[in-house]
Order: sequence, then C-alpha cells, then structure tokens
Amino acid sequence: MTPDERLEALREHFVKLSTVHRELESQLDAARGRQADLTDDVDQLERENEMLKTSSLYIATAEEVTEDGVIVKQHGNNQEVLTDVSARIVDSVAPGDRVAVNDSFAIQTVLNTETDARAQSMEITEKPEVTYADIGGIDEQVREVREAVEQPLAEPELFDEVGIDPPSGVLLYGPPGTGKTMLAKAVANETDATFIKMAGSELVRKFIGEGSRLVRDLFEMAREREPAIIFIDEIDAIATRRTESKTSGDAEVQRTMMQLLSEMDGFEARGEIRIIAATNRFDMLDRAILRPGRFDRLIEVPEPSEEGREQILAIHTRGMNVADDIDFADLAADTDGYSGADIESLATEAGMFAIRNDRNEVTHQDFADALEKIEKDDSSDVVSSAGYFYQ
Ligand code: ATP
Repeated sequence: MTPDERLEALREHFVKLSTVHRELESQLDAARGRQADLTDDVDQLERENEMLKTSSLYIATAEEVTEDGVIVKQHGNNQEVLTDVSARIVDSVAPGDRVAVNDSFAIQTVLNTETDARAQSMEITEKPEVTYADIGGIDEQVREVREAVEQPLAEPELFDEVGIDPPSGVLLYGPPGTGKTMLAKAVANETDATFIKMAGSELVRKFIGEGSRLVRDLFEMAREREPAIIFIDEIDAIATRRTESKTSGDAEVQRTMMQLLSEMDGFEARGEIRIIAATNRFDMLDRAILRPGRFDRLIEVPEPSEEGREQILAIHTRGMNVADDIDFADLAADTDGYSGADIESLATEAGMFAIRNDRNEVTHQDFADALEKIEKDDSSDVVSSAGYFYQ
C-alpha cells in the first residue's frame, strides 16, 4: 500500500467512526430521556404507594368486568358504580372479587379473602352430636326425613334397583324452634356425614356481593367432604318470591338464588351429598326452588302437640335432677303453643328456680313458677312462634 492509499483508508475509517460516534451519542441522549421518564414514574408510584398506605379505602365487590371499566358494588350501601382500574391490576380483577376502592371508586387493590368468607359463612361439623332420640314429638317428620335423606345415603343400591332417583332436596318448613336444624344434624350423625350449614340470612346481610360465590363454595366444600349433608337455614332469605322492586340488593339475592338452582340442577341425584333447607316463611318462597329436581320433598315441621310437648319435656329433663312429683302430662297441657326451643328454656328456667331456692332437685312447683315467669315476661308474645307465617 502506498502512503496515499493508506491515508485514504484512514480517512474513510475516521468518517465511519464519526458516524458511529454520532449514533451512539443520540442513543445515549434517548437513554438519558428514558431514565428521566422512569425516575418520574418511580416518584409517582412511590407517591401512590404512600397514599395507599396512609388513606383508608372502601371495600367493594367487582360485579362485572366490561370494556368500559369495572362495575363495582360498595358494601354497606349497595351502590353500584362503573369505575376505572389502573393498568397495573386490570388483569387481576375478576367478577366476584373483593376489591378496595378509593374516594373516587377507582380500584386500588384486589383483596383475597375467599377463605375467610368461606370459613365465616359456613358451619362445618364432622359429626354432630344430635341423635333421633333427642328429637321429640315429630316422629312422622323424622320418618320422612330418614326416608328422603338417610336412605339414599345409606342404601343407594335400593334406588338403583328400583330405578328411581331419590328426592333431590328436602325442604323443612314450620315455626321457629321446632327441631328442623336438629333433624338435619341427626341425619348427618346417623349416616356419618359431614354437616355443612349455611344461613341464608347471613349470606344476604353479611356477605353482600359474595352470595353466589359462597353458594358455589358450599357445594365444592360438600364435594370435598362426601358424604355430606348441606343444610341451608332460612332459605327464604335467598329464595324470596320475585318482587316488583328492582333494587340492586334484589338483583344480588336473585344471583345467589340462581347459583343455588344451577348447583342443584347439575347435581347427581344418587350421589353422596344430600341437601336440606329450612324456612319459617313458606309463603315467601319463590316457587322456582320447589320444582322437581330441586326441593321436591316438602316436610312440614309443626308446633308440637300436647303429646309431643310431653315427649320434649322428658327429653330436656333427661339430664336434670328432677323430683318424682313432676307431672309432665300436666305441664304439657299448660304449654299450649310452646315450641321445642321454648320448652328447653322452660326447663332451664325451672332449674334456675331450684338453684335460687338452694335446692339441687327440680320440683313440679319450679316448673309452675318458671311457666308463670315466662308468661309474665312475655305477655305480649308468649312463644317464639308468635308472628311467624307459613302455609
Ligand atoms: P329455626 O327455625 O329458628 O332455625 P329450628 O326449627 O331449626 O328453628 P332447632 O334449632 O332445631 O329449631 O331447635 C332449637 C332448640 O330447641 C334445639 O337445640 C332443641 O334444644 C330444642 N328443640 C326444638 N325442637 C325440638 C324437638 N322436637 N325435640 C327436642 N328438642 C327440640
């Protein structure tokens, strides 16, 4: 290479290096700009984070995720609003989630309290202690429940052989304190089934916005613990006849009921899960839940008759130290309109009279005094069944 050629080559190389230098400089500028932007973002997030930590947020339930935002319902006042979700958490919001919203309803965080709500809304007993022998005065109802609930669990092959499906769900209806819950527990005890209870009224009052999810959980829980008896108390709270009013509260109750119906419809009738529901307000029930395949066996649990009251008195004084002079027939005649629960309190009250009088034996007079006290305390509505309605 001649010196001229070498000079030319060096020049070309210099030009190339200058271009690369310019390119790198502009890249450096861009990176500096980006760094400034990111620093701003960090500042902003830190401020948001600080705000989140210091300001209180409201709890709401995400009802629906739409293209325009998320519909949330605030707990407490049931107000529904369409709100925005920050890009950070948009993918993690699903209908039914509990979320925290700020003053302007923007969703700040998604809460995960499913297990909490589950545990709080259901009462699970591996083996309830109640037996049929603890239930008095409703022998016919006990027989019916055994046939409709116990037999399909204990002897499913009978139904297979005859080729019929046992009743899907059993609805017990009648005044408060007559032994409906006891009946359900006694079946669970007899069949070694897990007893899972959910109260309709709590679903509606305490777990607003979560009703349908909790119903789903209830069935899931039962499937995990087969054999199981699902007992839904106060079913009228979630299955009231449709009213004209279209408030959001009603819509929520409707959704809970629809979830219950769809769980029941998709149910294996001969499976190891039995469903019992109870209500004091038969007149209020939506007839949709009584259709075949749903609560298709209705059992009325009435107030005990005189004979029934005598049996219940005997049951509730079994563990008491009672005097020989006690005339249960006489007491049964004097307790017209008393439910099983009322008789239980009567027995306790009589025991209190004995203690007050320094005795460890309860006499007939103690019962008479207890009766008088209860009548006096409660002269307006003597028994708990006052004010209840059913068909
Ligand atoms: P509610 O509709 O208010 O839920 P319920 O019909 O489910 O009432 P239970 O909870 O079964 O009533 O009964 C309450 C208590 O009353 C029982 O713990 C029991 O002590 C007593 N009791 C009610 N009925 C009977 C009965 N038939 N025999 C014996 N005890 C009874």
